[in-house]
Amino acid sequence: MRLRNIPRAESVLANTPDVMQDPTLYKGSWQKEIFQNDHPVAIEVGMGKGQFLLTLASQRPDINYVGIEQYSSVLLRAVERLDAQRKDRAVVFPNLRLTRLNARTLPDVFAPGEVEKIYINFPDPWPKARYAKRRLTSKDYLTRYDQVLIPGGEIEVKTDQKDLFDFSKEQVMATSSFTVTAATSDLHHDPVLSAGNIQTEYEEKFSAQHQPIYKLVIRKM
Ligand code: SAH
Repeated sequence: MRLRNIPRAESVLANTPDVMQDPTLYKGSWQKEIFQNDHPVAIEVGMGKGQFLLTLASQRPDINYVGIEQYSSVLLRAVERLDAQRKDRAVVFPNLRLTRLNARTLPDVFAPGEVEKIYINFPDPWPKARYAKRRLTSKDYLTRYDQVLIPGGEIEVKTDQKDLFDFSKEQVMATSSFTVTAATSDLHHDPVLSAGNIQTEYEEKFSAQHQPIYKLVIRKM
């Protein structure tokens, strides 16, 4: 997701306590310093405007969530949504923090084993082979996820792109540290995997166009 540059985005984000300005400062101490509890930490990479993560965080106060997005203008939309939900629904979101970050640097932000689960929803498909490394499920990214995940930790991927779904499965199977534990090429008609499904912005858009949604659950061995 890329939005027109919003000039005030940087200054708003810099003055929002929910947004971690330098997340590398908390490597190894997210639970203790930031959330001040011992609940598991889950992250969403490429959270977009935050619809999925805000819903999830409000449903699961027993999990700490960190939302990661690379673009300020997009993260600003998530911050605005957070503010609106605090006002309209009186949800407090003590278990949620956001940060502007390129997922390439995840190992600078989380210590080994600090993350229990990673969500990747509708990542940019980068269809051209020469950009395959940029796909968020490429082996380069899987290596980074491996560095921060707890053994037995999971990655959940949703996409509308069959090619990206197939590519992701192949990349997982080519590693020795991850295995695919569940997969569907029609999430919304899969009685098991659709249970409790929270739709993302992109998911609503694609399913309204009757496109099937693919989902992959990957476990770190
Ligand atoms: N998850 C949302 C948005 C999907 S678009 C939804 O399902 O509706 C993909 C998002 O991932 C974009 O907002 C893009 O900026 C972000 N993104 C892509 N590569 C990234 C990276 N390396 N690090 C952080 N965010 C990234």
